[in-house]
Amino acid sequence: MKVVENEDLEVVKVIKEGLKRTGGYCPCKRERTPDTICMCKEFREQIKDPNYEGYCHCMLYYKFK
Ligand code: SF4
Repeated sequence: MKVVENEDLEVVKVIKEGLKRTGGYCPCKRERTPDTICMCKEFREQIKDPNYEGYCHCMLYYKFK
């Protein structure tokens, strides 16, 4: 298992700017709860899921199995 940033630096830049704007809440989600602070609960669960491989919702991170 490995988690890396998207290799598309433009995507990384846009999402990181969004995170700065929101103070760390996922810029792709409307709810602002502890579960949507980056890394959000959704992605933490995808990381734990041995069958999941792919991007987080915002595509900032990619998880390899
Ligand atoms: S892990 Fe991805 S989807 Fe989750 S908050 Fe961070 S940027 Fe958004």
